[in-house]
Amino acid sequence: MNQQPKILLIYTGGTIGMRRDYTSGTLRPFDFQNVLDEIPELRLLHCDIEHVTIKTPIDSSNMHPSIWSELAGLIEMNYKIYDGFVILHGSDTMSYTASALSFMLQNLEKAVVLTGSQLPIGDLRTDAKENLITAIQIAALTNHGKPVVQEVCLYFEYKLYRGNRTTKISAEQFEAFNSPNYPPMIISGVHLEVQHGLLFRSNQNMPFKTYLSMECQVGILKLFPGITKDFVEAILLKSNLKGVIIESFGSGNMTTDSWFLELLEVTVKRGIPVVNVTQCSGGEVTMGVYDTSVALSRIGIISGKDITTEAALTKLMFLLANDPGNYNHLKARFEESLSGEIA
Ligand code: ASP
Repeated sequence: MNQQPKILLIYTGGTIGMRRDYTSGTLRPFDFQNVLDEIPELRLLHCDIEHVTIKTPIDSSNMHPSIWSELAGLIEMNYKIYDGFVILHGSDTMSYTASALSFMLQNLEKAVVLTGSQLPIGDLRTDAKENLITAIQIAALTNHGKPVVQEVCLYFEYKLYRGNRTTKISAEQFEAFNSPNYPPMIISGVHLEVQHGLLFRSNQNMPFKTYLSMECQVGILKLFPGITKDFVEAILLKSNLKGVIIESFGSGNMTTDSWFLELLEVTVKRGIPVVNVTQCSGGEVTMGVYDTSVALSRIGIISGKDITTEAALTKLMFLLANDPGNYNHLKARFEESLSGEIA
């Protein structure tokens, strides 16, 4: 008889573990042991579940790359001991954390499933129980003794998504996430319907490797009609800027005003990576389709293709910190898939 799978639950905070402060009416992170006591059903799962809490549980709006390092370090330390990992996380920045970890944890052969909820676990109508129970079941799934899921993913409201393909779309609905350019990999109905062909497999000859650094001197510039030169200058000419994501229009189009193109050119010449991602929630950047993006390829702007802004930002932070090289090296690395985040 095989042993039961061992799952490590990592608690970071978020609504799932919050309690209402009746004096102020606000929600605050709460002791995790009490959170677990709210779900006696966990004892019925055929898994050995242990848990650990990060140093200071937070509302995920306070998420920071230093906490991503703490999480990656926890997984590294416990990688051999557990068969899978579930991270309880606030939904607000869950897609950023899932994306960051998908780069920081390379050659994973086990599941790291992030989940959370829109209502606290103690609420009568909470979505926390289903999300947590199924996330644990997914992390524990095996096939011929090997974990079925071997990547960082996000489980919410009956769907398992590739983490670095997700984005938060609703502050209200239980269906809070979407993965506009990649279908769900598991759908939870009466059975767990696994789309095996969609699951990520890393290079199996390479050992699991953790990266703990991220470059924070990066930024996101969202274009809008009427954007001014001094506003763009304030960002692109910032002395310690290391990389920037530009959220462009449609299939990667930007204004062709000469001051704007000149600023882009100056930035690229300074060796600062400039990545083009679309503001649209679905579809991809294909520079050269319209006149308004022809100059961008010539300048050397990096194509984010169909990546989400969350994945683009964290990929840039990751590459700048861990894969040094010149502009062209970074461009080539950015435009290829590292963890299934890009087509
Ligand atoms: N503000 C909360 C957080 O992200 C929202 C949630 O958990 O869904 O921590």
